[in-house]
Amino acid sequence: MKRTRNIAILGATGSIGRSTLDVAARHPDRYRVVALSAARKVEELAALCSRHGAAYACIADASLAGALESRLRALGSGAKVLAGAAGLLEAAALPEVDCVMAAIVGGAGLEPTLAAAQAGKKLLLANKEALVMAGPVFMETVRRHGATLLPIDSEHNAVFQCLPPAFLAGDLEISGIRRILLTGSGGPFRSRPRSELGEVTPEQACARPNWVMGKKISVDSATMMNKGLEVIEAHWLFGARAEQIQVVVHPQSVIHSMVEYADGSVIAQMGNPDMRTPIAQALAFPDRIEAGVPSLDLFSTGALTFEAPDFDRFPALGLAYLALEAGGTAPTIMNAANEVAVAAFLEGRLSFLHITAVIEETLQQIAPAPMRTLEDVVAADAAARARAALAANRLATLAA
Ligand code: NAD
Ligand code: MG
Repeated sequence: MKRTRNIAILGATGSIGRSTLDVAARHPDRYRVVALSAARKVEELAALCSRHGAAYACIADASLAGALESRLRALGSGAKVLAGAAGLLEAAALPEVDCVMAAIVGGAGLEPTLAAAQAGKKLLLANKEALVMAGPVFMETVRRHGATLLPIDSEHNAVFQCLPPAFLAGDLEISGIRRILLTGSGGPFRSRPRSELGEVTPEQACARPNWVMGKKISVDSATMMNKGLEVIEAHWLFGARAEQIQVVVHPQSVIHSMVEYADGSVIAQMGNPDMRTPIAQALAFPDRIEAGVPSLDLFSTGALTFEAPDFDRFPALGLAYLALEAGGTAPTIMNAANEVAVAAFLEGRLSFLHITAVIEETLQQIAPAPMRTLEDVVAADAAARARAALAANRLATLAA
């Protein structure tokens, strides 16, 4: 007998949120959508709640609660409205929900994601920034409250699929694992000389050949900070040390990552680049379900190629390795500075190359502190955002 899983999707209007709804809707016998959240898109959130029969609709911008209420009623939905930061925490920990998709982008997702972990939910983690900024606090919350953490990021989901069944984080050597090989497409500027990167626009940075994603992660892919965040994410999820994580540029995005064993075996997970695959894998785990993803056509794929990452043209990746090695709040500072710089770039205030300059400067200006509690994370995040905003304003003025 299949058990219905009641799911909540934080960030339902985003790229991951919509892919999750697509997978869930293919299996109405297995999944019931209980709660959906969005930042500000009232119309879209109300329409999704109405279509999927959600019992709760949560809008992060509390000033839009009234508008959401009217829109839901107009559509004939009886969903209860939750709003603001408190509403998000409630949506993440509803007693009737057993599975939470954490798909808010950026640091805004940290506290709701932790609330789901604290409530002991099955937690599907797309919001990598939450784990990067709060690593040890996040993992300890998961452990203490018996939550089940499953990676949605395609690389980490691939690694998870290539690990031995009884693997425990930190057991790399015991499990005979030599390295984790994290693949990445190299982004839209993979083969551009650095001299041309100063001029690239947000539209060019967000035009992605292989994956369709939200704007922030698209820019992260273009700077390769996305891969940097993923190295830190792999460290926490699998207990891998920096030197056990190798980034491999693989432009076709067919291999989603690999695990290398002591005997020389390298196990890869492959498929079309479609986030519905990792979403379905994690939703149904340990079962397998239809995700709407077509078969991989190996004959039309042709050659698979691999390159070493270029740390000179894409210094963000090196900064992430340095932040991981520095430890404490260094990854928190790096993540915060990146979010501020990417937002300034998307607003047309900062050039592409200055994104990494802002991160580097912020990391130099703020010394990392030990990370023991959520307060340590919140303080480091706020201090780094303030410093990064100053750096971004200065660099923007210089360039103008
Ligand atoms: P997106 O921009 O498409 O969607 C983000 C969602 O978060 C939206 O529903 C938005 O309403 C909500 N949101 C934004 N700011 C918020 C705030 N301040 N408070 C509450 N809600 C807020 O982003 P996405 O591409 O779906 O990415 C979501 C997360 O998944 C990111 O952390 C990203 O790194 C990760 N991820 C995405 C992909 C992908 O293919 N899109 C792949 C791997 C990992
Ligand atoms: Mg990824």
